[in-house]
Amino acid sequence: SDHTLVYPASPSAMDWSPHYPAFVDEDSSQEAAGPPRLRKDVEIVDIGCGFGGLLVALAPLFPETLMLGMEIRTSVTEFVQERIWALRNKSDGKQYQNAACVRANSMKFLPNFFRKAQLGKIFICFPDPHFKARKHKARIVSTTLNSEYAYALRPGGVVYTITDVQALHEWMVRHFDAHPSFERVPRDEEQADPCVAVMTRETEEGKKVERNQGQKFVALFRRLEDPPW
Ligand code: SAM
Repeated sequence: SDHTLVYPASPSAMDWSPHYPAFVDEDSSQEAAGPPRLRKDVEIVDIGCGFGGLLVALAPLFPETLMLGMEIRTSVTEFVQERIWALRNKSDGKQYQNAACVRANSMKFLPNFFRKAQLGKIFICFPDPHFKARKHKARIVSTTLNSEYAYALRPGGVVYTITDVQALHEWMVRHFDAHPSFERVPRDEEQADPCVAVMTRETEEGKKVERNQGQKFVALFRRLEDPPW
């Protein structure tokens, strides 16, 4: 459970160097205070990344963008880490340096990992549906959590959602539509976004739905500019 989770006290305290060794800023290692710094910040997050299919498919598409999977299950996190290390080795260290996975409860510690407006994309792919009404508070999309996603996303950034559960899709749309920081991305833009094709086809859960000939419901939400004071 959560008391075994390790998370940084603040984004600047997070040591990303073991996760993205190829992106360590060599000049920063001389600095006395704080962990080694990277040349870039994480900009894409996959919430509840599962076995890492999305990361592994996206990493070569955006080789200069750092992406992070957050996964609460220890064994699954380790699987994804090993999967990424193996892919790095196989490519002689040339590819997959921009992908990593940490064990984290994204419902609790997101602001410990990311500064305000740091992220450009957040993926929420096939989240656990928590069907029963008394379990709805465990859903990864809610009014409170949407405010955390709004905090971490820069204006113009996008939250990508996909699910095979229609009631959950409607729940996510309802909660993002009601949130003042988000607007739904129109269908034509959604279709033209290469990440949508990846998210629809490449996650493990998406493949399972495909095999079972289930439906997939996609919705994207853009982070709006904050209104002037
Ligand atoms: N996104 C993957 C996919 O599409 O194949 C996995 C989908 S799976 C149904 C949901 C995943 O979210 C599980 O791996 C679960 O352990 C993870 N998860 C659930 N709650 C979480 C939380 N609070 N923080 C991080 N991960 C979580």
